[in-house]
Amino acid sequence: MSLRLSGVTLTYPDGDDGRVVAVDDASLTVEPGQVIALTGPSGCGKSSLLAVAGTLIRPDSGLVEIAGTAVGELFEPDRARIRREQVGFIFQRDNLLPDLTVVEQLLLTAHLRGERPSRHREEARELLDAVGLAGQEETLPRRLSGGMRQRVNIARALMGPRRVLLIDEPTSALDSQRGHDVIELIVRLTRERHLAALLVTHDLASLNVGRPGGVDGLIEMLDGRLIGGDQTAVS
Ligand code: ADP
Ligand code: MG
Repeated sequence: MSLRLSGVTLTYPDGDDGRVVAVDDASLTVEPGQVIALTGPSGCGKSSLLAVAGTLIRPDSGLVEIAGTAVGELFEPDRARIRREQVGFIFQRDNLLPDLTVVEQLLLTAHLRGERPSRHREEARELLDAVGLAGQEETLPRRLSGGMRQRVNIARALMGPRRVLLIDEPTSALDSQRGHDVIELIVRLTRERHLAALLVTHDLASLNVGRPGGVDGLIEMLDGRLIGGDQTAVS
């Protein structure tokens, strides 16, 4: 079991003495090789749920498990290590650095950790090949289309021993065909690499829920609550 949330509640401070409930008793399970899509209106708590699942925020209550480890019980350095090594994040904006080549974007994290980039070059090339960017290793981001930049972003998120992929509205800056291609790519890589992927998206037309090449489930979120998560047993 690669990603499990059980009874997760997250509140933020709101005004002088109030709290706003962003995630309300949410439970869901994503198995290795599965993509579960999460959809819902703006402000319903989707990004907050991803932040909790990725150990960026500690919830008020509830359990988060990544690859069998209950991360809530860990001290911050251990949470940070799991986040860095096992969790890949993909956001709407690609956040590529303008002065780095495509392959350097992928090697940057290892470099910042003080590891020799040469050790990771082979992995970077393999990933760029997997996302259809072989031959673009030395290209700068400004020479790439939006769809290609998002594919660099995806390849970068997969560097390292990933178990979990958390993806926040990856297609909202793309036209529908490129958006469709990006979701198809995420599904294929998730299957090939046995990741557990949670995909926030409004692009319902590209999901093909339960069909070959499509996502494995769709959960709706409203006011912090999940409809179709573990409570209502979609899996
Ligand atoms: P979504 O991604 O579905 O648009 P968010 O998770 O961003 O939803 O937000 C859920 C709720 O939590 C909203 O009411 C939002 O205003 C509130 N919220 C999000 N981030 C913060 C924060 N850092 N501090 C206070 N409130 C926040
Ligand atoms: Mg959001």
